Amino acid sequence: VVKKMGGHNYKFYNYELDEFVKEEQEMEKALYHAIENQELKLVYQPIIDVNTNEIVEVEALLRWTSPVYGSVSPLVLIQIAEQSGFIYEIGEWVLREACNQNKQWQEEGYPPVVVSVNVSALQFDQPNFVEMVNKILEDIDMDPSYLELEITETNAMDRVDEKLEKMESLKSMGVRISIDDFGTGYSSLAYFTRFPIDTLKIDRSFINDMLNDENAKTIVTTIINLAKTIKIKIIAEGVETVEQLEYLKQKGCDKIQGYYFSRPVAPDLIREMLKEDSKLTPES
Ligand code: C2E
Ligand code: MG
Ligand code: MG
Ligand code: MG
Repeated sequence: VVKKMGGHNYKFYNYELDEFVKEEQEMEKALYHAIENQELKLVYQPIIDVNTNEIVEVEALLRWTSPVYGSVSPLVLIQIAEQSGFIYEIGEWVLREACNQNKQWQEEGYPPVVVSVNVSALQFDQPNFVEMVNKILEDIDMDPSYLELEITETNAMDRVDEKLEKMESLKSMGVRISIDDFGTGYSSLAYFTRFPIDTLKIDRSFINDMLNDENAKTIVTTIINLAKTIKIKIIAEGVETVEQLEYLKQKGCDKIQGYYFSRPVAPDLIREMLKEDSKLTPES
C-alpha cells in the first residue's frame, strides 16, 4: 500500500493512506457479503482460431456488481481478495463455476470449447491446489483437457520450483497451462522452455502498440517466432481492429482474443456464438 501511494508530502500522504486503508476495509466487508449474497458472476470472452475463425476457447472473467460500489474492476477485487484471504474461497468458486458452465454447454450439444480460468499466485501456491482442481473436475465429470489455467508471467516467476512441480502434476492430469500477460514481466522466452506450458498470451499492451511502435512490433513477432520453434501456442490479447488481426495472422499467430471479435459476455451469448459457429461448419 505504501509503495502504491508513493507519497511525498507527509501530511497529504497520511491522509491518502488513511483514506485508502479505510476504503479497503470497507470493501473487504462488502466483498464478504458479496460472496454470501451471490453478487459475483462470471462472463466469458471468446478466443478465436485465426485459421478457422471458430471459437476454440473462452476465458472466464470475474464480475462483481456491488450495491455500494457499483461494478468493481476484477483487478481491485482480486487485490482485496488476496489481502483478506477471500481469494481461496473466490478462486475455488470461479474454477467450479467455470467448469460447471463449460460442462453444461457441452451437455447441451454445443461444439466443445476450452474454458480458461485465471489463477492468482496465492491460490496456485496453496498446498492442495492440484487436488482441488482434480476434485472439481471429478465432481463435474469434465474432461480435464477442456480446462486451461492462466497464471501471469510475473506470478509464475515466484516460487518457481514449487510451481514447476504443480504444473507437471496438472499437465499429467491433462489440464492445460498458459502464461498470461506475457511480455510484461521481462523474463526471456527461453526461460519459459522449462515450464510445461501450452500457451503464451501476449499482453494486450503490445498488441495495442504494435502497428505504431517498432519495438512493440518486434516484441510481438519475436514472441510468435520463438513460440513456434518450441511448439507453444500463441494467443494475442486485446485485438481490437481488423488491421491488428490481419497483421497477427500474417505473422503466424494461432489465436486471438479481443473486442474486435467480442467483449466478455454472459453464457447465453456464448451459446448464440457457438450456434453460429456450428452453422458455419456443418461438417464438424
Ligand atoms: P486478463 O486475464 O489479462 O484478462 C483480459 C482482460 O482484458 C479482461 O479485463 C478483458 O475484458 C480485457 N480485454 C479483452 N479484450 C480486450 C480488448 O480488445 N481491449 C481492451 N481494452 N481490453 C480487452 P477484465 O475482465 O477487466 O479483467 C482484468 C484482469 O483481472 C484480468 O486480466 C485478470 O488478470 C484479472 N481477473 C479477472 N477475472 C479473474 C479471476 O477469476 N481470477 C483472477 N485471479 N483474476 C481475474
Ligand atoms: Mg487472463
Ligand atoms: Mg491477460
Ligand atoms: Mg492482461
